[in-house]
Amino acid sequence: MKAIFLTVAFILVLPAAAEQESLRAEFTGENRWILSNGVVRATFAFTSQSTFQFETLEDLRNGEVWRAANQSVSSPIRFATTEEAVDGFIPLRIVSQSVQRIEQGNGLRQNIVFEALEEHFRLRLSLEIYDQQPVIRYSTVIENLMAETQRIRLADMLSWNLAAPDREYRIMRVNQWTVLPPARNFEPHETLLPRTGAREYVYSGAGAPECGWLAIRNERNRGLFAGWEFDGRTEATIRHRGTQGRLQLSALVQNLNRQLHPGEEFRVPAGFLGVFDGDWDEAGYRTQRFVEKVLAKPIPGNSAFPYVVWDSWGYQTEINEEILLRNAEMAAKVGAELFIVDLGWARAIGDWREDPSKFPAGLRRVSDYVHSLGMKFGLHVAPAEAMAESPVVKEHPDWLATETYSYFGAQSLCLSHKPAQNWVVREMVRLIDTYNVDWLLQDGEHVVKQCSRRDHTHDPNDSNYSNAVEGLNAVLEQVQEQRPEALWENCANGGSMMTFNMVKHYVTSITNDASGARASRKAVYGATYPFPPRYTDRYMPEMPTDTYTTRSYMFGGPWIFMNRLADLTAEQEELAASEIRLYKSMRAHVARSKVFHLTPIPEYGQVDALAAHDPASDRTVVVVTRDDAPSPEFVLKPQGLEPGRTYRVWREDDRAIYAMTGEQLMTTGLEMTFRGDYVSEIVYIEPLL
Ligand SMILES: [Zn+2]
Repeated sequence: MKAIFLTVAFILVLPAAAEQESLRAEFTGENRWILSNGVVRATFAFTSQSTFQFETLEDLRNGEVWRAANQSVSSPIRFATTEEAVDGFIPLRIVSQSVQRIEQGNGLRQNIVFEALEEHFRLRLSLEIYDQQPVIRYSTVIENLMAETQRIRLADMLSWNLAAPDREYRIMRVNQWTVLPPARNFEPHETLLPRTGAREYVYSGAGAPECGWLAIRNERNRGLFAGWEFDGRTEATIRHRGTQGRLQLSALVQNLNRQLHPGEEFRVPAGFLGVFDGDWDEAGYRTQRFVEKVLAKPIPGNSAFPYVVWDSWGYQTEINEEILLRNAEMAAKVGAELFIVDLGWARAIGDWREDPSKFPAGLRRVSDYVHSLGMKFGLHVAPAEAMAESPVVKEHPDWLATETYSYFGAQSLCLSHKPAQNWVVREMVRLIDTYNVDWLLQDGEHVVKQCSRRDHTHDPNDSNYSNAVEGLNAVLEQVQEQRPEALWENCANGGSMMTFNMVKHYVTSITNDASGARASRKAVYGATYPFPPRYTDRYMPEMPTDTYTTRSYMFGGPWIFMNRLADLTAEQEELAASEIRLYKSMRAHVARSKVFHLTPIPEYGQVDALAAHDPASDRTVVVVTRDDAPSPEFVLKPQGLEPGRTYRVWREDDRAIYAMTGEQLMTTGLEMTFRGDYVSEIVYIEPLL
C-alpha cells in the first residue's frame, strides 16, 4: 500500500515542481546569462572586452549545440544610425538587470540595460524563454542619450552569426498569396544553401512575396526555425560561408529611416529563434506551438473555434435586409456560428454607416436577428480605405497616403497620420457599438501603406516602419483595448500579411481569396508550415454539392461559406449540415495537432493528403483528396505513429474498420481505392485500446 501511495504522490506533485524549477534566467559569476527551461539552454556572455555576445543555444533533448561562429561575434543587438553601428563588436556598460515573469505562455524575461558608445545610447535588451518551448525570443529598445537627433538606418530582427560545422544546410520558406504575376499561393520552397556564402533572401510583410518565417536544417536533420514580428516589409537573408564554417542570418526592416530625438526610444521588432530535430513538419510544429502559446491572440474562453461562418459576398454588394435575414435563417439551420455582412452594407467605402436604401430599418436589426438565432455577428470593414466621395476624404483630403492602392476604387488613408488614425479608431469603436459587432473582417489593399507626405505627423522618410507599427498596429491596439470582446480577422489581400506580428492582433487570417477548392487546399498546405492551422481561414464560393468541394475546405481555420445559402436545395442543405457537423467534430483536434504534409502540394491530376496528429492522444485525422488523378488507387502512409502500437483505422464514408500497427501504416501504408475522379475522404487513425 505504501508503494502505491508514493507513486501517486510522485505523479501529483513532482511535475508541477519540476516545471517551475526548470524555467530559469540567471546571471552567473562568470559574467554569463543562462536561460533554460529543461528543453533548451541559451547562454550569453559579457566578455573581457565588455561586449555582449551570444555563446550557445543547446537543444537539451538531443544534445545538439548551436554556437556562435568561431573568430567572429554573434549578438542579438544589431542596429546602426547614419553615423554609428552597435553590434557584438561594440563595448557596452551594464547599467542594470532584472528578471520578470511573463504571464502569456508562462515565461521569464531577462532584462539587461546597457549603455553604448560612451553614453550615446541606452539599450534595453530583453531575452525571453517560455515553459516547454524550444525557443529564445528577444528584442532591443534603443534610447538616444545624445543632445542631437539621430537617424536609425538599420535594425536587425534576426542577428545570428553561427558556427556551421556541417557541410550542407537546407532552408525552407513559404510564399504568401498574391494574384499579381507571378501568382503565389503559399508554395513552400526548399533550397540547398550554397556554400559560397551567396545570400538567400526572404521578403516578408504586407504585400511581400513570402511569409515572415525561415527554417534551416543540417544533414542530420537538426535545425533552427526563426520568425520576426513585424508587419511591414522585411528583407531577411541567410548565407552559408562554407570555408569559414559560418551561418549568418539577418532580418532587416526595409527602408528604415527613423528619427530619434534626444530622449526618444525606438523598439526593434522582436524576433525568435528555436531549435528542432526532424523534418520541416517538425520545424513547423515547434513554431506553431510557440506561436499559439506565446504570441497568438487567444480565443476568449471557448473551445468552439475555428467557427463555421457565412459571408454575404456570394451576393457581392447586392445585399439588403431581406436577403440577409433569409440567409441568416439558413445559416443557423445548417450550423453556422458566425454571420458576416461583407462589403456593400455601408453608404460607401470610408463612410461606415449603413446604406438606408438597403437597410431602411437599420443594420442593427440584422445584427439583432443574427444574435437571436444564436450566431455571432461579423462586419466587413476596410479601415484604411475611403472613396473620394466619402465625407472623410471630402473633409480631410490631406489624410490620404501618397500611394493609393485602388481597393474597389477607393483611396488610401494614412493610418500613421495621427488625426486620420484617431478618426479610424473612433469609427471602429462606433461600428462595434452601433451594430453590436462580435467580429471584424478587416479588409483593404496593402494595409501597410506607403506614405511620404511632409504634412503628416509621421516621418515622411520612414513610411514602412511607421505605417506598420504606428499606423496599422496602433489602430488595432487602441480599438482592441477599448473593445476587447470584438475579434479581428486579417483578410487584407487574401493572405499577404502572414507575419508573427499579425498573429498578435488577429484570431485568424485568410489564406486565399475564394479561389476554389484546389487553391484552398494548396494555401492550407503551405501556410500550415509556419502558422497554426487556425490561421488559415478559407472562403468557399461553391454551393455544397458534393464532399469533394466541402472537404477541400475542411482542414484549417474558420470555414467560411461565401455562397447563396438561401438558395440551397433540400439535398444541399442536408449535405451542408452533415459536413458542418463533421467539421465541428474535427476542428479542435486539427487546431492542436501536428500537421503532416503527406504528399506534395495539391495539384490537378494528383492525390493530396494533409494529416493532423495529436501527440497527446496519438489520434490522427487525414483529409485525402483525389483531384482527377489518373489512378483511383492510392497508398496513404501516415506519420508520427508508434511503430509497435496497434491502431484502428477507418474512413468517414466506409463501414470497414481495419487494425494495423503503426509500423504497417507508416511503411506499407493503407491502400485506398477512390470511387470517383474528384473525391475527398476523411481517414481516422486511433490507438486500439
Ligand atoms: Zn502619411
